[in-house]
Amino acid sequence: MTTCGMDAAEFRKRGKEMVDYIADYLETIEQREVYPDVQPGYLRSLIPNEAPEEPDAYEDVVRDIERVIMPGVTHWHSPYFYAYFPTANSYPAMLADMLSGAIGCIGFSWAASPACTELETVMLDWLGKMLNLPDAFLAGTTGLGGGVIQGTASEATLVALLAARSRIVQKIQADSPEREELDIISRLVAYSSDQAHSSVERAGLIAGVRMKKIPTAVSKKFAVHGETFSAMLKEDKEAGLIPFYFCATLGTTPSCAFDCITELGPICKAENMWMHIDAAYAGSAFICPEFRPLLNGVEFADSFNFNPHKWLLVNFDCSAMWVKKRADIIGAFKMDPLYLKHDHQESGLVTDYRHWQIPLGRRFRSLKMWFVFRLYGLKGLQAYIRKHVELAKEFERRVREDQRFEISADVVLGLVCFRMKGSDEKNKTLLKRINAARKIHLVPCQLAGSFVLRFAVCARTTESRHVQEAWSHISEIASEILQELPN
Ligand SMILES: *Cc1c(COP(=O)(O)O)cnc(C)c1O
Repeated sequence: MTTCGMDAAEFRKRGKEMVDYIADYLETIEQREVYPDVQPGYLRSLIPNEAPEEPDAYEDVVRDIERVIMPGVTHWHSPYFYAYFPTANSYPAMLADMLSGAIGCIGFSWAASPACTELETVMLDWLGKMLNLPDAFLAGTTGLGGGVIQGTASEATLVALLAARSRIVQKIQADSPEREELDIISRLVAYSSDQAHSSVERAGLIAGVRMKKIPTAVSKKFAVHGETFSAMLKEDKEAGLIPFYFCATLGTTPSCAFDCITELGPICKAENMWMHIDAAYAGSAFICPEFRPLLNGVEFADSFNFNPHKWLLVNFDCSAMWVKKRADIIGAFKMDPLYLKHDHQESGLVTDYRHWQIPLGRRFRSLKMWFVFRLYGLKGLQAYIRKHVELAKEFERRVREDQRFEISADVVLGLVCFRMKGSDEKNKTLLKRINAARKIHLVPCQLAGSFVLRFAVCARTTESRHVQEAWSHISEIASEILQELPN
């Protein structure tokens, strides 16, 4: 026997077992240590050096999940996980993901699977309306704008940057046809906050354009403001450079700071620059009317992106990106070999998403949005966001009540940046001991030159009692440290 023994009947049985395993895993996840106790290379010795010649038994594969995989898993969905930012996880999204896997289409064009394209366009309109995005970003209205699912915020930033690069080169060449593309590109300059995600700087490296970081300060809440930006633009233009792209961040990764886009947007407009907004984490909160003002100024943006796969219960990957003029983005990347042509190219709901992204292939990811939006409803999603923000506020109150600690940045959403008063040394020791104990998991950041701990409410199932336990744990470790290192 050399073929796989799994037929449909076997799949039905194993599928049901797997669903049970998954539900058990998630229901009992808090009994596991959140952070794995393994050394680099731990896995190789646990499995054979080669793939099996003859098929393995299914039972053996399943047995190995607990033996080989779980010991090396960081449990991102444990209510004791407070590191990075959340990554979404919900039962409706997991079910939709199974269906997507089964349909298994590659929706690079409308014709390659019409439902895959059309549901995506409509889901991005639904989501755009939940955020109260200006109509110009929706596909259903004027038809000039529209949304697309990218794999990650990093890709959205890069795609926007490449589209902006192509737009500025075309514009300059339209005015001065003698100017060489390479000469123009060598003078281009893009900008972002010094608090922007590392993927923004990386986009500059990949696109081969200069990327400048705009300095921020604790006194200005780590946000980029118009004044600093204008001064930099003036200096760069005087030096013969061509400013063409600004990536604003709403909800920075270190401290969840918000660039002042109501000031920056008009500047970009006046300078003919492309403004892209990276709201990877914070964007989900804008579905709540009380947080929507944080998005004011989006009307000035050429493109806007956030990650439902972070905080909107749609499992990875699902990064929602909207552009005001789809022609800008399509124009930058369009390639039309004969084997990909079809009879309904680009009209209304018919769009060929391959022109909106870097890869050709794409999964049927909008099914996850459809399931989640329908099964939670806008109200359910809003309640979820509010609960996380409330838990962060609760943690903040605990920190503020303790004289040994300080809060390092405003708590706006689900992230609390805090530290023990005094040296970085003490805070580094604190974090090291927290993570070594493996009860909770945190990561640090650097803010205004200081070492700071980040507490991000992450798991769907985090409750007040988990936050209280986390705080007691941190507070006990702090007491130990203060006995050893009183300064
Ligand atoms: C998490 C994050 C990113 C990276 O998101 P990916 O989808 O993994 O690329 C980018 N920007 C900000 C502000 C983030 O918080």
